[in-house]
Amino acid sequence: SLKSRRGLPQKRKIRDVKKVIAVSSAKGGVGKSTVAVNLALSFARRGIRTGILDTDIFGPSVPTLLNLSGEPRLDENNCLLPLTNYGLKSMSMGYLLPQTQTDSATGEVPMDTTPISWRGLMVTKAMHQLLHSVSWGPLDVLVLDLPPGTGDVQLTINQEVIIDGSVIVTTPQDIALRDAVRGFGMFQRMDVPVLGMVRNMAYFACPNCGHQTRIFSHGDGNHSHGTDRGVMAECKRLGVDFLGDIPLDAQVCEDADRGMPTVVAEETAERSARRQAFLDVA
Ligand code: ADP
Repeated sequence: SLKSRRGLPQKRKIRDVKKVIAVSSAKGGVGKSTVAVNLALSFARRGIRTGILDTDIFGPSVPTLLNLSGEPRLDENNCLLPLTNYGLKSMSMGYLLPQTQTDSATGEVPMDTTPISWRGLMVTKAMHQLLHSVSWGPLDVLVLDLPPGTGDVQLTINQEVIIDGSVIVTTPQDIALRDAVRGFGMFQRMDVPVLGMVRNMAYFACPNCGHQTRIFSHGDGNHSHGTDRGVMAECKRLGVDFLGDIPLDAQVCEDADRGMPTVVAEETAERSARRQAFLDVA
């Protein structure tokens, strides 16, 4: 039976997918989606059959990052067919839910008049469809771009599908790091192995002279003070791997905005430290 004794749907494996890796962050704006997409593309570049599932309800960014839009088609079993770009299959809340568009003439955001209860139902239904009714075909890895935070949505997703491992994205800032530790606690309670932490916006590489500046105090080097711990020290304390640094780099942001992530944009660049940083994490 699909129902457990408590009436909750039982955790399921996502069909045709070998491993599900969740990319998470405890707060928004640390670059979770940018890292998730570049990681997925790094896997794909290594010949690993990869997909990315964007479960962010209120701020889906995979459509922009992969320059994809439009309603997905259905296969004969009524399953959603992923949209593909750069050799990466993708599915996103952004393809399913009508997004609030900014009026290009006035710059105004029109009020969403959908009753809140309907929106709730639509979201629940769409989430179910995203988790259980996508025709991924055989995949080695599905990267799950989780919504930011450590709350109900993350718990619900974990109750519905088996997550094989998680990656936590943080910045070197104290507050972000403290939140990342909270994220670690959440995965522990959910029995999901934490594969490691990525330190995004770790340093600023000057485009002119190449000098690297640590913008945020990171607590791991000579400048650590008091009880402040850096990401590396925190990883050590928690017993999780430190997966690497991604530089704060205007090009990374520009690539993301124009829908051609750095891993793809600089494919033919002879030496691109920022591209290599993502590949190293993967
Ligand atoms: P989140 O998913 O955590 O909310 P995003 O991936 O959407 O964050 O990134 C937030 C913004 O920061 C985006 O405009 C993105 O292009 C930018 N960004 C992310 N990582 C970097 C980086 N390493 N260097 C420069 N800009 C970045």
